[in-house]
Amino acid sequence: MATYDPKSRYAEDFINDEEIRETLDYAAAHAHDVALIESLLEKAKPIRRGNGYHCAGLTHREASVLLACDIPELNEKIFDLARQIKLAYYGNRIVLFAPLYLSNYCVNGCTYCPYHAKNKHIARKKLTQDEVRREVIALQDMGHKRLAIEAGEDPRMNPIEYILECIQTIYSIKHKNGAIRRVNVNIAATTVEEYRMLKDAGIGTYILFQETYDKKSYLELHPTGPKHDYDYHTEAMDRAMDGGIDDVGLGVLFGLEKYRYEFAGLLMHAEHLEAVHGVGPHTISVPRLKCADDIDPDQFDNGIDDDTFAKIIACIRIAVPYTGMIISTRENEAVRGRALELGISQISGGSRTSVGGYDEEVRPHDSEQFDVSDQRSLDEVVRWLMQLDHIPSFCTACYREGRTGDRFMSLCKSGQILNCCHPNALMTLAEYLVDYASPATAEVGWPMIERELARIPNERTRGIAAQHVADIRNSNRRDFRF
Ligand code: SAM
Repeated sequence: MATYDPKSRYAEDFINDEEIRETLDYAAAHAHDVALIESLLEKAKPIRRGNGYHCAGLTHREASVLLACDIPELNEKIFDLARQIKLAYYGNRIVLFAPLYLSNYCVNGCTYCPYHAKNKHIARKKLTQDEVRREVIALQDMGHKRLAIEAGEDPRMNPIEYILECIQTIYSIKHKNGAIRRVNVNIAATTVEEYRMLKDAGIGTYILFQETYDKKSYLELHPTGPKHDYDYHTEAMDRAMDGGIDDVGLGVLFGLEKYRYEFAGLLMHAEHLEAVHGVGPHTISVPRLKCADDIDPDQFDNGIDDDTFAKIIACIRIAVPYTGMIISTRENEAVRGRALELGISQISGGSRTSVGGYDEEVRPHDSEQFDVSDQRSLDEVVRWLMQLDHIPSFCTACYREGRTGDRFMSLCKSGQILNCCHPNALMTLAEYLVDYASPATAEVGWPMIERELARIPNERTRGIAAQHVADIRNSNRRDFRF
């Protein structure tokens, strides 16, 4: 019988079903415990430390109490605290990226994904290197600097050598002033050796969604294929870290199972990584199940409404204060706008979820993984962010400067964000405005850069950043970073 142990390397110990069920009982029993909830909010609030802030975070049990709380005034306080923590650690910058689908060949039987092996009518595609090149040029022409590559699991069609070759191709393309400077990877769970190969290929974050932490459901939702192996999937992040990847991204697919169970499991996974490897997840994603080729989300009983979704985001932000949080174009403009305030630090923009979709004039649907709700162009998303007073950032400096794993976390905690990430965001935004923006976007962007440069605390850094912005505006010099 498995017992709860965050330090164990066995999935059933660190995502322990009994512990999750006890957590949910505890949370339900304390959902109206005003004194406890107030004390948790007090514990989690940002405390000034030196130039920066310290946030204590919350355990999965504590955060589950906040999630269960249904007292309106306290929920308002929960949302307020999430906003404060977001600002303390991440400021008003939002990092932008796009997914790039390499291949939708897949041998798995995931019941919620249209790429499942039994789907015989979806168009199966795998990009050649020439097609990868065309996709990357289209993405560079939009202004993207950071990609997340996506592929189905198929050892014969999409072996690791294919993925590595694609990464090499992506990094090699320098088109006009463009470049992809960070490639994150979302491919199926694999071996330590293959993770090491990905690390050596210079990837940024390795992202793998758990889909559901509930083992019984997991086995039913993944009836066939290698992904059926719950333990192998759940222990993947440990193998990735053993392979030298210290930036890993967690996520569950909300809608498959009961959200409170998933929330506790997700936080236990984060606690496990911290306990074993000394560093928590670099990012947490919050995908929700969407309509797709032969998938109707209503077939699954656990869909969550927008308010619950917002509450989950706020509670993750409070519990794991320094993790990056990602929301994709699965969500519409209104949902994304609200989520940005509550803790999201990265969003995709101008996304296409089909294989080879960026090189097409009209959005193709035949090989799409799911419907995209936010169909605005990257330029529209960038302008919208600025109108909401968020700084769109195309920064990729941290991992290129070796600030990964706990080094990134200490940057976050030391308050150097305003002297480091903030100028980097402004310089990459200046690149975007000069090279790719529409006149309407540029008109909003330059005053924002002027305003935000003035907020850099260190005088010398402020001067250098202003000079680099001027260089970007007046020459072809690019890729400055702190
Ligand atoms: N094949 C890899 C794997 O198994 O992890 C790569 C992941 S897949 C290309 C990216 C993610 O899309 C999946 O992990 C899943 O959470 C999500 N996804 C699949 N079907 C979806 C749907 N119908 N709606 C929303 N997201 C979906």
